[in-house]
Amino acid sequence: MSTTLPVTTPRSDDATRAAASVDRSIRLITAGATRGETCTPDLAKGPWEFDRGPAGYGPGSSMGDVIPTGSPRQGALPEEYRRASDAELDERIRAAKATLGDRVVVLGHFYQRDEVVQHADFTGDSFQLANAAKTRPDAEAIVFCGVHFMAETADMLSRPDQAVILPNLAAGCSMADMADTSSVEECWEQLEEVYGDLTATDADGRVPVIPVTYMNSSAALKGFVGRNGGIVCTSSNATTVLEWAFERGQRVLFFPDQHLGRNTAKAMGVPLEAMPMWNPRKPLGGSTTAELEDARVILWHGFCSVHKRFTVDQIERARADHPGVQVIVHPECPMPVVDAADASGSTDFIVKAIQAAPAGSTFAIGTEINLVQRLAAEHPEHEIFCLDPVVCPCSTMYRIHPGYLAWVLEELVAGRVVNRIEVAEDVAEPARVALERMLAAKPPASVPVPAGSTIAAAGDAAAAAADVAASAVGA
Ligand code: SF4
Repeated sequence: MSTTLPVTTPRSDDATRAAASVDRSIRLITAGATRGETCTPDLAKGPWEFDRGPAGYGPGSSMGDVIPTGSPRQGALPEEYRRASDAELDERIRAAKATLGDRVVVLGHFYQRDEVVQHADFTGDSFQLANAAKTRPDAEAIVFCGVHFMAETADMLSRPDQAVILPNLAAGCSMADMADTSSVEECWEQLEEVYGDLTATDADGRVPVIPVTYMNSSAALKGFVGRNGGIVCTSSNATTVLEWAFERGQRVLFFPDQHLGRNTAKAMGVPLEAMPMWNPRKPLGGSTTAELEDARVILWHGFCSVHKRFTVDQIERARADHPGVQVIVHPECPMPVVDAADASGSTDFIVKAIQAAPAGSTFAIGTEINLVQRLAAEHPEHEIFCLDPVVCPCSTMYRIHPGYLAWVLEELVAGRVVNRIEVAEDVAEPARVALERMLAAKPPASVPVPAGSTIAAAGDAAAAAADVAASAVGA
């Protein structure tokens, strides 16, 4: 299981912070002060540009779902926060946190901009952070600097009297939005037409299909899998979870990320022809009945817009320019990229692999650039760079500007809770069942992993790092 990672890096070193700041890089590029490219001109806009649009999310839902009545709406951030300088916001956040003390815990996702992460009490991936919040039972408020589904999970795992706050309600996840409740339920009904009764077991006690949702999905979908005998997975434990599912089902419906599903199942020996894609816009997802009958893993047509940018060409260029470089990518990357890399694993795996490497190592990393630049700043003993030369952060998480963090904290100081993410109990209850199944799932004694396909669990990170280092040194 993942561990939580308290912020241990001193944040008072301005040079280190400036080096890690993706926001600063974007500002310099858009001002023409430095060479480079960003993936979208939207990054140059103030994050408050998104406040004027219709509310796209509600607690428990994806962008494609009906927003629950009474959900909080973002609205315009007060002018004083929009006009404040970086230094002023920094000071106001510190002062509000000092006033609130143990009454608040601030969580910063690995992909969050550095100007926000520097104020976090914990950094980590979404599930690590939800668990980290539990170590602060006195906190009345949990401020989650991440995206919607992360705050939802924190709400479902925290005490009912703790308020989980998302500083900007426009911070969603484009991958989570690719699987909405009605599309998944429609898929389930079509699968029932193909396989018959989905609760009937075969001679081995297995049902026709087990639904598995990635943590990066709405609470409504976690509830769907909980109600239908399924389970949640993270990028750290996807192999363990698939083993769990194959013990109970003849096949798996995996959503929303096709790449994590494909990379994990392939590393476990599932042939590609047994992994049809489910396109929700097509009858039977675009497959034939025969293909679905032969399927072992049905992959939802979803992806992460950040991780799908990584290419085999980038890996080849990194190897040509940096002999001995170790290439580590996230399993949300496309399969050819994962196959070409030296290793692949969760953000936690990447962090630990770098921490465990001997000084003087060179890493090309295929994951979100805020994490890569922060790792580079925190590990000057290594050379660390992002595989993608274009500056492309998770653009939705990037909407958590320090102005929003200052606003929600100062509202708390004034006794007001804004932007509370509260998942309805009828959704949260089955979703917790799916999360508990994940926590109870134990890694199999041995998982067959073909050579060249390293999908590592977080607990294996140090050993894998040593393997990666050894193979790269030997290459
Ligand atoms: S990096 Fe990708 S999967 Fe992660 S929050 Fe952003 S869009 Fe979603």
